[in-house]
Amino acid sequence: MTMTETRTTTTPKNGQENNHFDVVVVGAGISGVGAAYHLTTQCPDKSFVVLEGLESFGGTWHTHRYPGIRSDSDLYTFGYRFKPWTGAPIASAEEILSYMGEVIDENDLARHIRYQHKIRSASWSSENNLWTLEAIRTDTGERLRFTTSFLWMCQGYYRHEKGYTPEWEGVEDFKGRIVHPQQWPEDLDYKGKRVIVIGSGATAATVVPAMADDCAHVTVLQRSPTYFIPARNENKLADQLRELDIDETWIHEIARRQILREQDEFTRRSFEEPEAVKRDLLGAVRAYLGPDYDIDKHFTPKYRPWRQRVAFIPDGDLFRGIASGKASMVTDEIERFTQKGILLKSGEMLEADIIITATGFDLSILGDIKFTVDSTPVDFSKTVTYRGMMFTGVPNMVWIFGYFRASWTLRVDLVGDFVCRLLEHMKKKCVNKVTVALRPEDKDMPLKSWIDSENFNPGYLMRSMHLMPRRGDKPEWQHTQDYWLEKNELPKIDLDASEFVYM
Ligand SMILES: Cc1cc2nc3c(=O)[nH]c(=O)nc-3n(C[C@H](O)[C@H](O)[C@H](O)COP(=O)(O)OP(=O)(O)OC[C@H]3O[C@@H](n4cnc5c(N)ncnc54)[C@H](O)[C@@H]3O)c2cc1C
Repeated sequence: MTMTETRTTTTPKNGQENNHFDVVVVGAGISGVGAAYHLTTQCPDKSFVVLEGLESFGGTWHTHRYPGIRSDSDLYTFGYRFKPWTGAPIASAEEILSYMGEVIDENDLARHIRYQHKIRSASWSSENNLWTLEAIRTDTGERLRFTTSFLWMCQGYYRHEKGYTPEWEGVEDFKGRIVHPQQWPEDLDYKGKRVIVIGSGATAATVVPAMADDCAHVTVLQRSPTYFIPARNENKLADQLRELDIDETWIHEIARRQILREQDEFTRRSFEEPEAVKRDLLGAVRAYLGPDYDIDKHFTPKYRPWRQRVAFIPDGDLFRGIASGKASMVTDEIERFTQKGILLKSGEMLEADIIITATGFDLSILGDIKFTVDSTPVDFSKTVTYRGMMFTGVPNMVWIFGYFRASWTLRVDLVGDFVCRLLEHMKKKCVNKVTVALRPEDKDMPLKSWIDSENFNPGYLMRSMHLMPRRGDKPEWQHTQDYWLEKNELPKIDLDASEFVYM
């Protein structure tokens, strides 16, 4: 089956669908497609459906269409463990979508996915141990109802409809065009135009080199700098193994192990010797920009490395754009927008025809779905998370929330194994309901925000932390964000431990 067919053949005609499933997966991004694969291979007797609000699969890689859109982590680890990645480590959205399309085709997953089905509410009934989901068909407006025994939330962590834009004074005065990268207009013509990109993260770093050659000039306006890792977009070990005709399955596994070991080392060093790591990172930037460039001002963050995601810059393209004079950095704050551009707090005026607001996402807790358990609305900020996967008081539900310091998908595979093991365990025990609950020894446990802001503090999380589930002080009650710990711990979880309550 071709990719196009995969995208269009899966929504049954009205009135013909079976609307009860053992498992409902919400979302067909990299998490939801991974969930479908794991259910197919590990729980072949379970019926399931993947309900996706958009018109195709891919999630993040379908939504984001700005020039140059690419991964910022390597695809050996952002790819699934079960499907070898055979290209360069950093991949475009198109390549990632094509990889996911192959996973769907090779495993006959298309028949399980229903597109343009947006879930609005999810209600658990303990009387019949079922979730009832209210969905709306985004193409026809039709309202549909699904029931399921188990809800697998793969809806990501941000709102796909609209990105985050701070409020600035005078925005309405600007005579040019303002564009958020999450809603890139197909007709945007930036040839020969003066462009300001507001933001300093991975999106700004991607869009700038992709546009720079065509624009009159691109100015990156950032309030504060970010750490970047410029390096060649290649994996020498994988390429050497390929030359030796080694099987791609082996190459995938070997490259993953090598990359994960290096990342582990980098994370450890960023805690133990942050100054040395900082020197290394800034040295790599200096190599592109030369001794006279003001690295202190534009590329030296105030925080230690890894407190926010460190974006990979393939072949140093952002820095090459700056070195060539096609792009430039301004580190300052916005006073207000004007007719011609942006007036900065320093008094400097930046003129532009187009302003791109690469200012991030809007966090969405569990897909903006209204949850109730036995008719009582669920306030997730009052729940405590079980390993970032389940929530106290919310039965038969698992959420995939990936890693910040390692590829998201590593957790998709680990959580996939956990869910399938849990479903099989429930079958063996002949039970229909599982909830996680604090144990007597956890009753006085101090509860904190979802993530320690000293450890990791990206803006989108900080803005909405008060909405997220709470975390305790034991590994069971937190999302440790530590892949290297979890890869050993999650497979060993004792499903009969007292934090699991079955009925
Ligand atoms: C531009 C960009 C680049 C990134 N690069 C990397 C990277 O290189 N490495 C990395 O590890 N991470 C990266 N991330 C983080 C990235 O989002 C995750 O790694 C991963 O793609 C998330 O996958 P997901 O399937 O969990 O969620 P998403 O990709 O967000 O997909 C969720 C899907 O669920 C659907 N959905 C949501 N709510 C509902 C609902 N109520 N009803 C029906 N469907 C619903 C959405 O429409 C969407 O299709 C990047 C993020 C962005 C924005």
